[in-house]
Amino acid sequence: MTFIYNTAAEMSIALAAKEVSAVDLANEHFDRIADVDGDVHAFLYLDKEGALAQAKDVDAKRAAGEKLSPLAGVPLALKDVMAQRGIPTTCGSKILEGWRPPYDATVVTRLKEAGVVILGKTNMDEFAMGSSTENSAYGPTHNPWDLSRIPGGSGGGSSASLAAFEAPLAIGTDTGGSIRQPAAVTGTVGVKPTYGAVSRYGLVAFSSSLDQAGPCARTVLDTAMLHEVIAGHDAKDSSSINAPVPAVVAAAKKLDVKGMKIGVIKELGGEGFQKGVSERFNEALEELVKAGAEIVEVSCPNFEYALAAYYLIAPSEASSNLARFDSMRYGLRVGDDGSRGAEEVMSLTRQAGFGKEVKRRIILGTYALSSGYYDAYYGSAQRVRTLIMRDYEAAFAKADVLVSPTAPTTAFKIGEKADDPVAMYLNDIATIPVNMAGIGGMSLPCGLAAEDNLPVGFQIMSPAMKDDLMYQVGGTLEAALNSKWGSTLMSQAPKLGAK
Ligand code: GLN
Repeated sequence: MTFIYNTAAEMSIALAAKEVSAVDLANEHFDRIADVDGDVHAFLYLDKEGALAQAKDVDAKRAAGEKLSPLAGVPLALKDVMAQRGIPTTCGSKILEGWRPPYDATVVTRLKEAGVVILGKTNMDEFAMGSSTENSAYGPTHNPWDLSRIPGGSGGGSSASLAAFEAPLAIGTDTGGSIRQPAAVTGTVGVKPTYGAVSRYGLVAFSSSLDQAGPCARTVLDTAMLHEVIAGHDAKDSSSINAPVPAVVAAAKKLDVKGMKIGVIKELGGEGFQKGVSERFNEALEELVKAGAEIVEVSCPNFEYALAAYYLIAPSEASSNLARFDSMRYGLRVGDDGSRGAEEVMSLTRQAGFGKEVKRRIILGTYALSSGYYDAYYGSAQRVRTLIMRDYEAAFAKADVLVSPTAPTTAFKIGEKADDPVAMYLNDIATIPVNMAGIGGMSLPCGLAAEDNLPVGFQIMSPAMKDDLMYQVGGTLEAALNSKWGSTLMSQAPKLGAK
């Protein structure tokens, strides 16, 4: 019997009923990885030993009748941006090659405590900068729906591992869309919780005022189950929210949107969005209407400036955060043969260790923060951020949740936008405003585009601290679409490998 095509919720039930052991489940997934990851390249590192030890421990506890968390024994793929004690953590960069963190990120601690089995670390754009995973120093990840295409980014490895059935659960991080856009183009589900809902402790910092970790899976319920494991206050992160975690699992199971108002953001659609993306999005809206929701149109005029402001704020914060990679503290050190001073070794190391996009952002960010330009660039960008928050406030006064397509296009070809940074940045047009305002955002699949038969993502945004609302709407939409199609979208994904 094979469980790899099941959901995490189904695996949880099978584990509790002792139909399968955590060790067997882990081994089955490692077999699957051995079978398909040569083509997909979702993983940078596999921790067979650690995963099997954790699985064994869960099985022993279950045999002893201990009360376990629902996800105990369920496998997970971890984005390589999260520190895991003793396990190589590269962030997709050569500069961190060989670094094994001496501590666990809070997310990792919580996963371990819940008995989740961490299979390994997944590929990503270097320091989470990118939308295609092509900026990884370790080679691109391929989209399981079409191996010649990108899996999105920066968390392409995590989403591809789900779409290739190499793992039922994954962790992503989302600074401008890195959970939601990969979910959209791989036909999976990804959630960026409210900023501060999940601890950033042990998450390698890119843009600290925007970075947020979140759950990825193949269903809304699975993301909700993972959300409840990783979210919650953490004293080690000063921006962590000290309030109860919304009941997102219960919300995902409600399957009811009667009387809810759903706001379609006028500015996030239409021109610039692929025809097949708009078509599937509009059909999904009809399903929500059939389920009893009311659709209202809302306008967020300042979103026009969101992308430009993001590409000042994120590089500015990155230029400061990445200063710590100085050749002394972590990973790579180049030219330290006794003949050079510290400054020269630092410069050689940064030159060799950082890729092109990371260098571009450091230069951009340093410029935007430099005296004389600070107010014109960084200051203006921060003011735009306030305007975006106000747009959301006004929109949420008219609607319970807001919606849009997640990404303007389906997965593009590997190499297609690699030499055009602005074309690459435009992928995030619909996801970035969410990060700028710190609210919650989810992407779930809403079908395949007619022109290319590739997955389309539907984005749901909920007000800060009300993450349960997007789960409620997402769960309802997913159920409606599954019954319309007579199957899940993921069951239509190409079955890679020999099995
Ligand atoms: N694609 C965006 C960027 O390159 C977002 C990345 C992210 O969310 N980590 O910055």
